[in-house]
Amino acid sequence: MRKNLVVPSLLLLSSLVLTTACSSGAPSSSGTGPAAVGAGSSPTAANRGVDPSKIKGLDIVSDNSEHGSCPFATSYPAVPGAEATTAVMKKYVEERLSTFRETACASGSAVNQDHELNISYTFLAASGDVLGVRLSTQDGSAAGSGLSTNTYWYDGKDRTYRAAPGLVADGFRDAFVAELKKQLKGRQGIDAAQLDGAFDDTSRAATLADMSFTADGGLRVEFDRGVVGVPAAGTYLVTLPETTVTPWLSGFGKRAQRQTVHPSGTLDLGATHTTAPAVPTESASSTDSTDCKQVKCIALTFDDGPAAPETATLLTYLAKYRARVTFFTVGQNVAAHPELVRAEARAGHEVGNHSWNHPDLTKLSPEMIASQLSRTSAAIKAATGKEPTLFRPPYGAINSTVRAATALSPVLWDVDTEDWKYPDAARVAQTVITKAARNSVVLMHDIHPTSVAAVPEILRTLTARGFHFVTVSHLRATL
Ligand code: ZN
Repeated sequence: MRKNLVVPSLLLLSSLVLTTACSSGAPSSSGTGPAAVGAGSSPTAANRGVDPSKIKGLDIVSDNSEHGSCPFATSYPAVPGAEATTAVMKKYVEERLSTFRETACASGSAVNQDHELNISYTFLAASGDVLGVRLSTQDGSAAGSGLSTNTYWYDGKDRTYRAAPGLVADGFRDAFVAELKKQLKGRQGIDAAQLDGAFDDTSRAATLADMSFTADGGLRVEFDRGVVGVPAAGTYLVTLPETTVTPWLSGFGKRAQRQTVHPSGTLDLGATHTTAPAVPTESASSTDSTDCKQVKCIALTFDDGPAAPETATLLTYLAKYRARVTFFTVGQNVAAHPELVRAEARAGHEVGNHSWNHPDLTKLSPEMIASQLSRTSAAIKAATGKEPTLFRPPYGAINSTVRAATALSPVLWDVDTEDWKYPDAARVAQTVITKAARNSVVLMHDIHPTSVAAVPEILRTLTARGFHFVTVSHLRATL
């Protein structure tokens, strides 16, 4: 059953990959500017799709704000066994986030509207003893703003982190670089002196930050904007064919290539703990007879998940009070944990759409907005069998372009817990209890353990005051 349901989302992912494949070769305009935050914005030319829901014990580490004055959304995967690689990604993400918060958010309001930090992840390989992850960073506050991408590898055989250049054997590094330069020379925006500088001994490792394999075994190297050519020309992509590159690969590179082209199916990094938290099994009728004209209703909403184990814990609290809520889920997390989204729907909650990777939709083109939302709706449908009808724009940022790009109905909120800013369960509970009014829509986030810990107190106190917890659609339908 589950296998069949997952198929449509994978087909969709592959079709998105194919539509961007044509950008290989020439400087890519799709990877430039703030608009590149969107799904599939990086020219992910023919990287093979990986189903993250098959990675045992996967934890997505997310930290998001929901406020336009300090808009950030960062996430990276923590895979059991690959702690060395997780640590490198964690360090990178935390440093970017800390710099962003100190510069763009220090005054409490963004200095200009381009300020936004978004870091999202894609799996490149997760099979046998090989793990590969790409982090895509959009930082509107950085100099030379634009998209930058980095790939991170884990070698389960040697139990070690591998940076991208480690895919090529030391003895063939010079031949490999010479071929890359040959491929880049003559392209629009490439300057020979800058090219030499980018590959000198001190810069080479940083220049070769994004290397991965295509589905047919080619080695794909992506260069950030301004690294090998003039910034205006955008990013550059070189794909070396399998026959050219295979003799140059390191032992790990050969295994990474093999696990990309012919995945053995199961990821085994020798982790001792890969048990996923139990998924709650409560079920409730899809119809709710609560009449919000007669009784006091309130709609709690939880954004940015699902997250393990937080969402599972939340579901058990909600079941105790027979409370129904609305989850505004992020597509990349739905793909990682479809079983949790399925449990949300089964328990009578509403599952809404909160975009694929949490960008400010008002900065994207209509096509990218549509892609962000339709990819997520497809993942929700694959998990639950049902298309969502509601969406919540990240940061509450919405305009006429966003409204026109989707048939989904937008949902904002009138009680903001600011729980992303204050990781304090007592404070979050008190905010909701103090501000709760009849028919309120309350904003919370189930990626934070402190927000989930606040829920029993909220349910207990508001139930005693006569509130009924309903979904957003139910609230709207009965008013
Ligand atoms: Zn959010």
